[in-house]
Amino acid sequence: MIPPEPVVLIAVGAYLVLVALLMGSFINLAADRLPRGESVVRPRSHCRSCGRVLDAIDLMPVCGYLIRRGRCATCGVPIGVSSPVVEALCGAAMLASVVVLGPWPGALVGLASVVAVGVAWVGFGRLRWAMRGSRRGSPSDAGHRTR
Ligand SMILES: [Zn+2]
Repeated sequence: MIPPEPVVLIAVGAYLVLVALLMGSFINLAADRLPRGESVVRPRSHCRSCGRVLDAIDLMPVCGYLIRRGRCATCGVPIGVSSPVVEALCGAAMLASVVVLGPWPGALVGLASVVAVGVAWVGFGRLRWAMRGSRRGSPSDAGHRTR
């Protein structure tokens, strides 16, 4: 078998890292919404403070946070540094897997790493929500509060 050209390897690696970054963005959404009993599909991603639907800049993993300087572009509420950290962690896990193991099985190991980050972060989100609920009433009561 002829080894692939380096430019092809770089393009495949960049694509895999991009997919991992986007998965990190979805993990943040799932960790925020699932503990509240909300859908991960609808409504579209929005600011919990002012309700503005997020645009393409807001939704860019890591870069969106940096461009917006960690705040909502409309109301200025802080976004929280955990969002870009989780996204960067997913991208870094995929990058490390692909660099060390090559596109295959690096993609598989990278994907498994991103899923592990997702399970851990969503689990932590549930724990955080439950603790918040126990301070202010039952978690089920807290789950009905939106914004
Ligand atoms: Zn806002």
